[in-house]
Amino acid sequence: MRKRVLSGVKPSGEQAHIGNYFGAMRQFVELQETHENFIFVADYHALTTIHDGEALRQYTLEIATEHLAVGLDPEKTVLFRQSDVPEVAELAWVLGCVTPHGLLERAHAFKDARAKGLEVNAGLFNYPVLMAADILIYKSHLVPVGQDQKQHIEITRDIAEKFNRTFGKVFIVPQALISEETGVILGLDGRKMSKSYGNTIMLFEPEESIYKKVMRIVTDSTPLGHPLNPDKCTVFAFHRLFNPEGLEELRQRYLEGSIGYAEAKKWLFEKMMEKLRPLRERWAELRRQPEYVEQVLREGGEKARAVARETMREVRQAVGVGGLR
Ligand code: AMP
Repeated sequence: MRKRVLSGVKPSGEQAHIGNYFGAMRQFVELQETHENFIFVADYHALTTIHDGEALRQYTLEIATEHLAVGLDPEKTVLFRQSDVPEVAELAWVLGCVTPHGLLERAHAFKDARAKGLEVNAGLFNYPVLMAADILIYKSHLVPVGQDQKQHIEITRDIAEKFNRTFGKVFIVPQALISEETGVILGLDGRKMSKSYGNTIMLFEPEESIYKKVMRIVTDSTPLGHPLNPDKCTVFAFHRLFNPEGLEELRQRYLEGSIGYAEAKKWLFEKMMEKLRPLRERWAELRRQPEYVEQVLREGGEKARAVARETMREVRQAVGVGGLR
């Protein structure tokens, strides 16, 4: 039996960048070949910060479109909208009743928001409980996460264990799946690629705009004809992602001083477009068919909901709410 893997993606309205692709999206696509892959668009989670109904609905569709474009196959992955399974909100309530307040006070997202002086609504404070409900309701074995999300999985495990001890074993205690190869993807300025640094390349932005960005990747000022250090070069780091087949040749030319940054960037741009073109074409095509994307989400939601209903039947029976069935 294949293990079930669950991932959530938050509809933020921001387009996916190369860091998102190599750091998360690509793994989702690989996992659908080896695992039972559940991926949800976390619209309930987004509600902690987005208070514009029309925008949220639009962002949800956009992020689903992007994930289909990079290769998620609805035949192999259950792709759904979190809110199409309202049972998850019911479970969050139940789990909240076995979750110590202190556990949530220690959660990074809450602490960071408070430290920044942001207004913290109860939804944000309870975020880890809803996340636990997401994971536990589908009896997920594994949850792929970056290092920064490890704490949430620990919280989920604590909640699941506490529930199982209190009411009898209903939940699978999940494990974090931390991908070994996913390092940090660098942005144009050599820092971590991130929207907040303004150093991103989006997967689906216009080709001319990608070209301009590639040409302004920050390098040192070694003059043409001098050796370059591949291990301290952001252009070279991008080649690792898009040009593995040419990497040895490029390394040699860096060391010999027989290539300059401008040429290395032009080569990178060609390779980047070559690798991204199929995804970009699929994206353009899917954007013309929002009703297809909507249908994928709806059908995924039905599959997910069938699992969730069964779990909630067990939960209700265990905790004593609802009549016996
Ligand atoms: P965000 O939209 O920033 O929340 O990112 C979503 C996911 O994309 C994160 O959980 C990471 O797994 C991945 N990600 C984002 N930026 C990077 C990066 N620069 N390098 C590697 N992975 C990243």
